[in-house]
Amino acid sequence: MSHPVIGVLALQGCVEPHRPHIEAAGAEFAAVKTPQQFDAVDAFILPGGESTTMLKLIDMYGLWDSLTRNFKTKPVWGICAGTILMAQHVTNPQQKSFGLLPISVQRNAYGRQLDSHHGMIDNYLVSFIRAPVILSPSGVGISGEAEFEILATHESAPVWVRQGPYMATTFHPELTQDFPSPMHRTFVDLVRGSAAQLVA
Ligand code: GLN
Repeated sequence: MSHPVIGVLALQGCVEPHRPHIEAAGAEFAAVKTPQQFDAVDAFILPGGESTTMLKLIDMYGLWDSLTRNFKTKPVWGICAGTILMAQHVTNPQQKSFGLLPISVQRNAYGRQLDSHHGMIDNYLVSFIRAPVILSPSGVGISGEAEFEILATHESAPVWVRQGPYMATTFHPELTQDFPSPMHRTFVDLVRGSAAQLVA
């Protein structure tokens, strides 16, 4: 899979800014919102936005089962609201999630909109926008025995994590105009290397 197609879930939130990063990393960008489109891509990005709104739209359009089925066999990267959708447990308040990663997250943990801020992650300036905090990484997610890795921390909390084909960042690397971001490069490399892993 030298030129994988990365589907960015396009129900709500920050979708289009991923395009130049994905293309600069040597992959193809696709905005996806129907089961047919989900089946046609090699991997997913669950973008930043509002997780509650995304959940409402997923329910309203009956997309839960098709997404769950696709997530079992394809890499997924959640960004901010997407991290919340990937977590096993969500607080502030509690809400439904896909449980792909063995993490508990607290929504809006840094406070209100005014408390959004920038941070340097992997020598790359990124934005934290009403970001969640990953409270307790532990155990294994649905990818079984794969090792849970913390790829970066910020103010002593994990902000970039990975287990097998699943990756999450609580910040928005797509808003930085320096293509591709290290996180997009890492995800596209992960997608290229994942076919064997997922089939095994
Ligand atoms: N606060 C949002 C939520 O709880 C996430 C914000 C973001 O994705 N930048 O879903």
